[in-house]
Amino acid sequence: MLIKENEILRGRVQQLEISLQQRAEQLSQLESKSEQREWRRGEELRQREDRVRELELELNKERGKEPVVKYVTQTVEVESPATVRQLTKARQRNEVLSERLSSQNERCKQLEEQIRKSDEYSCNLQHKIAAYEREIGKLREELLKEIGHLEERKEEAVKAAASCSAEHFQNLQDQFFTLQKRLTALPPTLRSMKTDYASLRSQVRNFSEFYGAAINEAKKQISAAISEMSEANKDLLEKYRKEVALRRKLHEQLVELKGNIRVLCRVKPVLKEDQHEEGLSVVVTTDPNNESSLTVMNKGKNRSFELDKVFQPHATQEEVFQEIEPLVTSCIDGYHVCIFAYGQTGSGKTYTMEGSVENPGINQRALKHLFSEIEERKDMWSYTVTVSSVEIYNEVLRDLLSKDGEKLDIKINPDGTGQLHVPGLRVIEVRSFQHIKKILATARRNRVTFGTQMNQHSSRSHALLCITVQGTDLASGSKTTGKMNLVDLAGSERVWKSGAEGERLKEAQNINRSLLALGDVIQALRGRHTHIPFRNSRLTYLLQDSLGKGSKTVMVVQVSALERNLGETLCSLKFAQRVCKVELGPAARKIESGGGLCD
Ligand code: ADP
Ligand code: MG
Repeated sequence: MLIKENEILRGRVQQLEISLQQRAEQLSQLESKSEQREWRRGEELRQREDRVRELELELNKERGKEPVVKYVTQTVEVESPATVRQLTKARQRNEVLSERLSSQNERCKQLEEQIRKSDEYSCNLQHKIAAYEREIGKLREELLKEIGHLEERKEEAVKAAASCSAEHFQNLQDQFFTLQKRLTALPPTLRSMKTDYASLRSQVRNFSEFYGAAINEAKKQISAAISEMSEANKDLLEKYRKEVALRRKLHEQLVELKGNIRVLCRVKPVLKEDQHEEGLSVVVTTDPNNESSLTVMNKGKNRSFELDKVFQPHATQEEVFQEIEPLVTSCIDGYHVCIFAYGQTGSGKTYTMEGSVENPGINQRALKHLFSEIEERKDMWSYTVTVSSVEIYNEVLRDLLSKDGEKLDIKINPDGTGQLHVPGLRVIEVRSFQHIKKILATARRNRVTFGTQMNQHSSRSHALLCITVQGTDLASGSKTTGKMNLVDLAGSERVWKSGAEGERLKEAQNINRSLLALGDVIQALRGRHTHIPFRNSRLTYLLQDSLGKGSKTVMVVQVSALERNLGETLCSLKFAQRVCKVELGPAARKIESGGGLCD
């Protein structure tokens, strides 16, 4: 700031000096001007004085001439007209000259006046010059004063600036010293920092090496652990597979032990609606201590029947299904399975197979179990479930899942496997239990419709629900195909005995023939006959690949416990016994096949 101020002051002084110079110049100009003027005035004065002298000389000359002219004039007046003329001329000339003289006088006066004026003027000018000179002197004095002031201020400012800058300099010097001190102290710190930095760098390098090594080590360990794990997993999977295979084998053995063809008997409980007619006494009794026997009272005599299993009249749908469940499992494992409900109309076949809304039968329970099993196995197997449903009435096959219920044919599959197939049969892929419920409802509805169209009751036809389960082992890719046929057979009652004729008789004969054929087939299978008469009816023909070797069958024989149904009950039980006894021993083989359903 001081330096700045100093500079400003210096500038100001310079400016002042410049203005002083300018003023001095102006002064000298003014002086030269006044000198010139004075000189010019002197010159003019001189000229005028010269002129005045000239004029005075002339005047004097003229004055000297005057006496001559007067004389001439006088002479002319006296002497002659020529002289008179000359005289007048001279007079005129004289007049002219005197005029001239007066004008010259006039002029002289004017010039004198002019001289006086110019004297006045020059006097004025001299005054002015003096005033100017005074003013200039004053200005010079002022200027000198100003310069002095400025010089003083400059001195002061310079002094102040010097003192200030000295202080400042002192401060700066102090700062400089402290900085110098600090700077001298810095190199060792810097050196130690450098060494620290170098050591840190080496540490970081070491760390990254160490870190990389540790990561590699960890990776190795992890991959080793993973491979160990996968090895162990493979081992476990292998063990699991073996376990599953063993379980299947044991399951098979269990089913085998129970028999690949089993005959069960379900006795219908006495219901309120059955009690409005006669013959209400109960003639069929079960033994709670013996699950495989049942007794029928006929004409005062007790007759016992031995079957694979006899359900108590109060047996629940779930209890009945418990006996079927292993077959459902077998179906998922790739077996062909058939479940039949046999018995006279009203004995509870449909109840056992379909059940009611609140208490569903085998069909729904089997499918529910099927889907839950599939869900359980989903990590190892994937399954596709398809379903079809047909009705056989009077040896005619109809699709229960298509609305028009057109007639279907059973043909040999052209793929060369020798298996049968039904061209045009609707097969639906089922994805959930809810879906199958809808399909079952459709089949039931269609069966009722066809029944009315044909003016016949549904009890005169066989209803089949065929479920195919295709499984793929997710690990090996191997495939299995299981089939489950759930059959609600036509009523087994002997209509012809009541004297039926015409269509009714033909229908009865057809039913009789197909049930008989079924009995024959089962008997032949259980007796391990070489020839199985599948072709004797549509039903057995259609089911032949599910009834043949390696497949499993359950026949639920439904009977009424009431006296009024005694005849049919006995008939059904005899039928059951006939197919059941076959496997009991070699002696059973001797029992002849064929013959009527009942004597
Ligand atoms: P089917 O199909 O053999 O002609 P249904 O199954 O139609 O005989 O049975 C006739 C009636 O008896 C139906 O009303 C059914 O609900 C009833 N019924 C059959 N079995 C039982 C049972 N175990 N418990 C309760 N009611 C039954
Ligand atoms: Mg029925």
